[in-house]
Amino acid sequence: MTGHAVTRSDAEICTTAGMDPGTHHGAVAPPIYQTSLFAQPSMAVFAEHQASEHEDFVYSRGANPTVAVLARALAELERGEAAQCFGSGMGAISAVWTTLLRAGDHVLLLNDVYGPTLQLAQHLERLGVEHTLLRSPGEDWEQHLRPSTRLIHLESPGTYRMKVLDLRAIADAARARGITTVIDGTWATPLFQKPLEHGIDVVVHSLTKYVGGHSDVLGGAVVGSAAFVRDLFYAGFQLQGSVMSALEASLVLRGLRTLPVRMAEHQRNAIRVVDYLQTRPEVAAVHHPHADLPADHRLRREQLTGVTGLVGLDLAEATPQAVARFVDALRLFRIGPSWGGYESLVTSPSKPGGEAAMAAQGFSSGMVRLSVGLEGADAQIADLAQALDSLARYSPHPL
Ligand code: PLP
Repeated sequence: MTGHAVTRSDAEICTTAGMDPGTHHGAVAPPIYQTSLFAQPSMAVFAEHQASEHEDFVYSRGANPTVAVLARALAELERGEAAQCFGSGMGAISAVWTTLLRAGDHVLLLNDVYGPTLQLAQHLERLGVEHTLLRSPGEDWEQHLRPSTRLIHLESPGTYRMKVLDLRAIADAARARGITTVIDGTWATPLFQKPLEHGIDVVVHSLTKYVGGHSDVLGGAVVGSAAFVRDLFYAGFQLQGSVMSALEASLVLRGLRTLPVRMAEHQRNAIRVVDYLQTRPEVAAVHHPHADLPADHRLRREQLTGVTGLVGLDLAEATPQAVARFVDALRLFRIGPSWGGYESLVTSPSKPGGEAAMAAQGFSSGMVRLSVGLEGADAQIADLAQALDSLARYSPHPL
């Protein structure tokens, strides 16, 4: 679906998407086109629509009017030409990769990437696609490019340690070699980072997180050039079938309406939580762009216009047992995967017996991830405080 030429404010895009005057009888919530197919008036029109199925309505494993409203809004928010929605973030990532890659190609993964993205790379080895993962790309990262490198997939901020990469430098190096750059922009949302403006070719999002925002829907999106999104539609999207339904699109659209106000609140809460965690001796490190990491400072200023509520921390007592005691002591922060909803959540990859594997990836076994929700920083900090206090009080050999 093609985006708009005029740049409007993000808040305006979020609140007005699909509310074009004169359409849908003035309905302010776009109708849910709950239909699997669209009957055609004649064989001639049917053929015409089939030839441009990426924008004409034929079958809901292709384009659907409710989903199209969301796609247009996302394209406009990301300052892209076009967007395609998917049934999940992973559906979006898989579709981008399988659209671009063929046997013999090489993928360079930069930063700590979402676990299943790395699993996808490992899975594609059987189809002859190779990959290299650089969790902490240094000055020499370009040396890992090969003549066969077709795709650079990056996250910035990255998963768990939220490291920020230099988008412009990566985009320029890739473009000079004809390599496509894909960023998973889920952490920053389309509000706080515009990767296409820094030269990145394609942005993917899990809409399951902040954009949906209510932990009641899965979704994904890809934003890029009209030509790329068109190729994606006919290859990775239609053939793999990770479709977003009209009902799901309407839920994500409802989330989008309040995205700017929710993100302002997530940001306020996260900043206070990060500041608090940094005062506690039981916390060895806080991973978040607001935590003062000097190496990231310029990039943060240039690339991020805000910070979100996903926060990493390393407990000073870096063991899976300490992690379990801390996490189990939390009350407001509930244990679970995913993030970006209104509710505060906590999780950790640290498990008994997994210490060596964590160390091999450069992770502390005290690593914990918080998704700071909307309950308010006072309640969130009180919960973290009592859990850290209980950690401080714990003695493995009680008298
Ligand atoms: N990208 C990131 C950074 C994620 O954290 C996730 C899910 O947690 C995904 C992509 C995948 O999204 P989904 O769960 O919607 O498939």
